[in-house]
Parts: sequence; structure tokens; C-alpha cells
Amino acid sequence: MSDLIDQASEATERFTAQALSAHRLPEDKTRYSYSHCMDCGEPIPQARQKAVAGCKLCVLCQEDAEKRKALQGL
Ligand SMILES: [Zn+2]
Repeated sequence: MSDLIDQASEATERFTAQALSAHRLPEDKTRYSYSHCMDCGEPIPQARQKAVAGCKLCVLCQEDAEKRKALQGL
């Protein structure tokens, strides 16, 4: 009986470790930033494109999106 439980928790641990490592893939560094904001179409400054790999929104829309996300998280 205890063997079964051991196997189950082992499998769970393995699955969790895999899920975590998949999350940690540094894909952000290879993603291109958008030259224009996806939301309002304003150009995104090159400094921001470089600073935030894979960014899709201008600063204003990003702030907006983060505020919305924060509200949803409540
Ligand atoms: Zn924008």
C-alpha cells in the first residue's frame, strides 16, 4: 500500500518539475518586440523594444493592461 503512495507522489513530483522547467524556458530573449503597439498602434520606442523582450504594447497600454490584470486578480 505504501509503495503505491510512494509511486504516486514520485510521479507527481516528476510532473511538477517538468511543468516548472517548461515554464522557465528563456523564450523571452529570442522573441522579437513589436515595433508598434498591438493595442493603439503607436510606435514603441526602440529602447523599450530592447529593454522588454517580446513586448507588444506601448508603455501606456502596458500600464493599462497591468492595471486590468491586477483588478482581475482581486
Ligand atoms: Zn499602446
